[in-house]
Amino acid sequence: MRLACLGEVMIELATLDANTAQIGVAGDTYNTAVYLRRLIASDDVGVSYVTALGDDPMSDRIVSHMQSHRIDTCCVDRLAGRAPGLYAIETDERGERSFSYWRDAAAARQLFQGQGRVDLAALEAFDLVYFSGISLAILPPQTRLSFLNALEGFRARGGLVAFDSNYRPRLWESREVAQELTEAAWQLADIALPSIDDEMALFGDVSELQAIERLRRYGARAGAVKRGELGPVALGPDSDGAAEQRFDVVRDVVDTTAAGDSFNAGWLAAFATGQETPACLASGHALASQVVQKKGAIVDTSLAAH
Ligand code: ADP
Repeated sequence: MRLACLGEVMIELATLDANTAQIGVAGDTYNTAVYLRRLIASDDVGVSYVTALGDDPMSDRIVSHMQSHRIDTCCVDRLAGRAPGLYAIETDERGERSFSYWRDAAAARQLFQGQGRVDLAALEAFDLVYFSGISLAILPPQTRLSFLNALEGFRARGGLVAFDSNYRPRLWESREVAQELTEAAWQLADIALPSIDDEMALFGDVSELQAIERLRRYGARAGAVKRGELGPVALGPDSDGAAEQRFDVVRDVVDTTAAGDSFNAGWLAAFATGQETPACLASGHALASQVVQKKGAIVDTSLAAH
């Protein structure tokens, strides 16, 4: 099986004190790719990241990060004269984090627009394509539509589409556009991995139940609604057996960064290795439970690979 995670990977600056910052590499679908690769031992399953970077040293650093995490870089475009996006995390005396972004000119925004060698036909090399609302939001309107059209063809030829809406209002031109594109993506998704908070914020559902019912109506064949410490709820026709499943709560949460991304990786790793719905949910929750107990998006974890 060949899996592709698609979107934007950024340079992360985590400030340590007034004058020092630690450089990292992160981004929602990229975090998922890293954890997914970590959880799948066999090289018979490929994990690729699909994005565009520049030709600068920071882009080189990102490619090295991918290689050191065994992520295939065949679909990483390198665009002359461009650079990756950047974000900084500052933590105040009370531990509250604030984020600043410099990503408007990121190379990833040029993906699939003819400047590089990676085009939409590249998706055909994969069995499963995973992307998020952030992957969509950063693309220009015409490219979003071409990408969704290409996914329709990909599915018609037997490919699987996995999606997480990851709603970030700042990245979209309006809530209406975000709703329209997210709904189109849900309608394409074979595997739906939403977070309840993002869905309710985007669609204005009056209750969790209403949001879950709406998500079920899109018709994904599998997936999960993430609900923080309440634990996930299965989606898809096989979800009944998972209704009685119980999930442990972590009381000493340190940092919820990448909780959803890592859940998706755990879920997808179990799915890609042929496991049933309850095992997919347990795998997602086990990984995310570890991730929320450490600081940062990509943290050390101690779970056996599938
Ligand atoms: P997101 O980061 O996308 O908003 P959630 O906050 O729903 O996602 O968290 C994603 C997953 O992380 C949850 O489905 C759950 O498995 C796990 N998780 C989050 N908080 C806790 C917690 N306090 N205890 C156990 N698991 C948690």
